[in-house]
Amino acid sequence: MPALPQYARVIIDRAIHRELDYAIPEGLRERIAIGSRLRVPFRDKSALGTVVQVLQETDAPGVRPIEAVVGDAPILSPALLELGQWISTYYCCPIEIVIRSLLPQVVRKGEVGWKKQLFVQPSANIPAEQLEALGRRAPRQAELLEAVMKLSAPVLATDLLRKTSLDNQTLRALQKRGLVELKEGAVARDPHANEEFMRTTSLTLNQEQVTALKGVEDALRDPESARPILLHGVTGSGKTEIYLQGIRLALNQGKTAIVLVPEISLTPQTVERFKGRFAEDPEQVAVLHSHLSEGERHDEWHKINSGRARIVIGARSAVFAPLKNLGLIVVDEEHETTYKQEEAPRYHARDVAVVRAKLEKCVVLLGSATPSLESYHNTTKGRYVLSELSQRVDENRMPLIRIVDLRLEARKDKSMIILSEKLRTAVGARLEKKEQTILFLNRRGFSTSLLCSNCGEARECPNCSVALTFHRDLNRLSCHLCGHTAAVPKKCPACGKDALIYSGFGTEKVEATVSAIFPQAVVRGMDADSMTRKEAYRDVLRSFRTGKIDILVGTQMIAKGLHFPNVTLVGIINADLALHMPDFRAGERTFQLLTQVSGRAGRGETSGEVFVQTFTPFSPSIQFARHHDFSGYFQQELEFREKCNFPPSNHAVLMTVRSSHPERAQFSAETLRRRLKENLGDEFVVGEPTPAPLKKLQGQYRFHILLRGQAIVRLSRKVRETLDKLPFPDDVLVTVDVDPYQLL
Ligand code: ADP
Ligand code: ZN
Repeated sequence: MPALPQYARVIIDRAIHRELDYAIPEGLRERIAIGSRLRVPFRDKSALGTVVQVLQETDAPGVRPIEAVVGDAPILSPALLELGQWISTYYCCPIEIVIRSLLPQVVRKGEVGWKKQLFVQPSANIPAEQLEALGRRAPRQAELLEAVMKLSAPVLATDLLRKTSLDNQTLRALQKRGLVELKEGAVARDPHANEEFMRTTSLTLNQEQVTALKGVEDALRDPESARPILLHGVTGSGKTEIYLQGIRLALNQGKTAIVLVPEISLTPQTVERFKGRFAEDPEQVAVLHSHLSEGERHDEWHKINSGRARIVIGARSAVFAPLKNLGLIVVDEEHETTYKQEEAPRYHARDVAVVRAKLEKCVVLLGSATPSLESYHNTTKGRYVLSELSQRVDENRMPLIRIVDLRLEARKDKSMIILSEKLRTAVGARLEKKEQTILFLNRRGFSTSLLCSNCGEARECPNCSVALTFHRDLNRLSCHLCGHTAAVPKKCPACGKDALIYSGFGTEKVEATVSAIFPQAVVRGMDADSMTRKEAYRDVLRSFRTGKIDILVGTQMIAKGLHFPNVTLVGIINADLALHMPDFRAGERTFQLLTQVSGRAGRGETSGEVFVQTFTPFSPSIQFARHHDFSGYFQQELEFREKCNFPPSNHAVLMTVRSSHPERAQFSAETLRRRLKENLGDEFVVGEPTPAPLKKLQGQYRFHILLRGQAIVRLSRKVRETLDKLPFPDDVLVTVDVDPYQLL
């Protein structure tokens, strides 16, 4: 038996960027292991921390003893800690910040416990004569006691009382007589406890699906040498069925599985499909998402950690679910940018999933109708295996995509830019046939700016360098970046003329325009403003599904993974919005968006039709999407990226220097660039510091430095070294984003 540890190396939950050693007092030695949570003295206070190593000796000076162990057992496995170390190095982020992401706050702090409720069981011995006497004197007590005596195991007091229609007073009287025992026990708060799930069984797969599942099966048999699998399947090709059957195979091996989905598609519909398929034991499926209460999150997490749950479905951070004996990680819609966390640690859950799979020797299955350039590129390089589903299961044809040239429409009439004549006619035809329409615009609000026609000034946010958006329902101007709102001025505050005009339009205006053109139709809008409550979101989806809404107008909220069989028309009001972003992924986003949105049309009996309104009808991403030509699009996009040294053939690191003093931000950015240039040498491309496209955000002036190169881990290390040696003034902040998705 190995000797009990004498010291623990601890990462405390504070930004001190180093590990500290503590002595383990005699009585605690058996209870401490890697991953244990502790309370330790730090300076003149105490702090919480996580054990990353146990030691027999230490040469750290002035080692102090641990105060207490928090919780019953370690809450981070060595494998998850190793994953955390990788994230820390790769994403250039201090480990204590990474640990914050590895564990939900409610678990880390250990303040919330299980919900305690009373359980009933009969006392050990009940004299027969007392029972008889009770029957005469207190018939209700006797009735309850009889029910209790039939129990083979303790039951919840509330359940028992409900079943017998007896009250708490009766139960307490029995307890007082010593005839029953009441004990507190833990119960799980299950957010889905009151829902019924329709049980489903495995479907008979078509030929392409059989091949795809075979790939997963082979990988599960030899996970150590298996490569990540990219399942490229058009929308409706039955990818989810592959996930479900793949998970079944993993469970049959006695293993566990994680399914990552983008938060936005973590709908009741998705959860139902997984709960329904594994309904033989409802407890084995845990769901992690941002709408859980702290208590529910605590319970789901411990259900996973204790091994009771074997399948976890969740958004980004579920990649850290503490499952043991992992067999399979599925990443659905792997191209989704919401997998990237936009605050430190700025990790990408898909890439973390691939690394976790490697560390824990499990299989990783990435799925998408529009794979990211990165993942697809990895299949052409042989790092990932490509698996394809080219047909829709229902054998419906892909929807017909029609391009509407807005340059021609705009010559006819300005209002045609919102709803062209062709799209108008198509919507009208759907209304007559009682079929449904989705109209899509990636911009919320009513008008996107308020301009003065005299002096040309637009109303800008005082904190950010963007125009304020007019929201008609609030009758206010609002900044979509910082939330600042302002009253609508009567006259131009700059020149004093009464010449203000609204320009640009968002979903609110589309909704209003469509309602005016089709007064008989039920039109509803759905965007982040109107959908702040999750019930509102569910209500609209339910009404739409049951046919109570004819036309749904919305932002990307409605572009993702929803099935509406009666939708036969999708209109994309302006396909150019993404294209004009100052971002090398603009073309990729447009292609993905068009393809995903088109996938919403014609999933039922009738095949669908998609209208794409654009001022740039010949841009490659629009043309390739129109012809459902993924590989054509991939070829030309890859060529463009390689020509400019952008990902996927190179890695990028975006550094942002910001300060409320513009000169200080600029000066610090220039200093930083000089140091980086010295430290990085010729192996990496170091860009010039430039004002960010969004040059002011929330009162802070921002400068960007873009780094590029092949050896990303070396690059991250050198960036960290440079930053550690460079003191910045207190009011200058520097952030590092490895493999960035937001370039604004
Ligand atoms: P995807 O995830 O690729 O969009 P889904 O898995 O949601 O596709 O499949 C679309 C529809 O087809 C679902 O209703 C699903 O139940 C059904 N389906 C999938 N595979 C089969 C199959 N082999 N036989 C019959 N129906 C299937
Ligand atoms: Zn703002």
